[in-house]
Amino acid sequence: MHCGSCGRPLLPFHEACFQCGTTAQPSESAAARKREWDALSPKMQGEMRGAYDLQVERRERWLEWLRAHRRVHAALGAVLYGLPAAFIFGMLDGFPLWAIPFVSLVDLALGAGVGTALNRLQGGSYRGMILFGAAFLGEALLRVGGASLLGLGLGAAGVALILISGFLLSLCTGYAFGLQLTLDRSDAGA
Ligand SMILES: [Zn+2]
Repeated sequence: MHCGSCGRPLLPFHEACFQCGTTAQPSESAAARKREWDALSPKMQGEMRGAYDLQVERRERWLEWLRAHRRVHAALGAVLYGLPAAFIFGMLDGFPLWAIPFVSLVDLALGAGVGTALNRLQGGSYRGMILFGAAFLGEALLRVGGASLLGLGLGAAGVALILISGFLLSLCTGYAFGLQLTLDRSDAGA
């Protein structure tokens, strides 16, 4: 059994989560489970408790790993989101070449923010996809000005194609990044 709110492992008779305090089951149901538990053989109880302790410990290691890697994940977010975004928006915005590195700082900072947020939310492929996708869409809405685009000779269809490709790329990258931060995929969870 796991806490429905934070995912912490619980024993069948636990009434509430130790970590976040969420009620796991009504007290009558917890009491019934406790009677079932007491009826189990000591050997069975020992095995179940051992498996539970291992799960809790593995989860603690993973949470510690996330805390210890917050800056690493910020840097990874900057690279994984920031570099492609800097390239795509730098090109579409029609900035002169010398200005692109400065404008790119926005993308790198946004990527670092996205990486940090994903770390704090404890990873997850769909959360990664949503964060990366939302960052790209938000930037696309704010940064791409219609006038400078057509000067590139791409045409509206060309610009749309580049934006859609960039959006799909950000979804895939976010998905893969979020997956690597989950309990089952992280170094800590192995
Ligand atoms: Zn909980």
